[in-house]
Amino acid sequence: MKNRTINQYSTIHALMSGVFDGAFAISEISHGGSFGIGCSHALAGEMIALDDIYYEIQGAGHVRQFTDQEQIPFAQLTHFNPDDQFPVSDISKADLYSQLSAQGNIDNIFAAIRIEGYFEHVWFRRTNYQQKPYRPFVEAITEQSEETLYDISGVMVGFWTPEIFQGISVAGIHIHFIDDSRKHGGHVFGFKLKNGLLSYELKQDIKIHLPNKDEYINADLKIDNLDDIIRKTEG
Ligand SMILES: [Zn+2]
Repeated sequence: MKNRTINQYSTIHALMSGVFDGAFAISEISHGGSFGIGCSHALAGEMIALDDIYYEIQGAGHVRQFTDQEQIPFAQLTHFNPDDQFPVSDISKADLYSQLSAQGNIDNIFAAIRIEGYFEHVWFRRTNYQQKPYRPFVEAITEQSEETLYDISGVMVGFWTPEIFQGISVAGIHIHFIDDSRKHGGHVFGFKLKNGLLSYELKQDIKIHLPNKDEYINADLKIDNLDDIIRKTEG
């Protein structure tokens, strides 16, 4: 029987509010899935999980594996067992919605997505380590590292999220990239895939795990323009 649950650790809303302390150990969230995305304690890097490995892509670009004991502030994970996969060519990030919708209506449900192939370019960012007191995410990312790589093979992992879940997750497409050498990657802003394979699994369940830490419990999570901020920082 398929596991249709996405396990989400903290919320994008909390992350946007500056709740950056690690709150979930890798050993804990690994029960929630070995496929997905997240970020490091104090925004020191981006996380991508695939093939049972939890990679940290650090702000400066170095890639390593998280240890079991390390704690991270945010993750979205699942067990990935694709419903279908099909070859794709000459598509961009903006085309992913129509590619998936052509398989069936996804407007009101989640989907886990994997794209593997040869990319003409991939444009991505990595957040950089933040000192306390933490600032809101929109200010913290003024120090993010942006990079575009050309003619590179690799894999993207992430989720399609329905509009009404904006704030819990990132509405729309949220994907992270790591190249085949496992030396480069980050949070994807855009790409052009020359040719590759798109696989997906529809997800009807989401379980939200909130941090059991004072930093979260006592946080002021009121953000007036949350939707704008998420689109600006994660788009
Ligand atoms: Zn991301």
